Amino acid sequence: MSDCLFCRIARKEIPARIAYEDDQVLAFEDIGPQAPTHTLVIPKRHIATLNDVGADDEPLLGHMVQVAARLARDKGLAASGFRLVANCMEGAGQSVFHLHLHLLGGRRFTWPPG
Ligand code: AMP
Ligand code: ZN
Repeated sequence: MSDCLFCRIARKEIPARIAYEDDQVLAFEDIGPQAPTHTLVIPKRHIATLNDVGADDEPLLGHMVQVAARLARDKGLAASGFRLVANCMEGAGQSVFHLHLHLLGGRRFTWPPG
């Protein structure tokens, strides 16, 4: 989608601190970090929410999780722990309607989340 913020980041029209990139996904640092590590993993292709994920997207979603877990390992978070979050729709806190995983780490997290 041409005017989607994360599509524009994926097209490099808006700058971001890129942590990882391949043909399918982009990972970049969140502009308002909620933890010492706060990296977003997005598909380059526009998918608005988890509600819009189809069976054909299973490999892509698996790849996103694998990229996030590898970034966590590279950042030294494998043993201390990390959290992967996907907010779906406004009621769950989604503010950017282009699918993204939040990789959060570097501090203790509580449960249940707020
Ligand atoms: P969510 O609220 O789950 O939709 O998450 C959207 C995230 O995108 C928030 O954590 C924002 O801080 C982050 N964000 C918004 N604009 C930018 C941007 N230009 N670059 C990096 N992260 C952003
Ligand atoms: Zn988009």
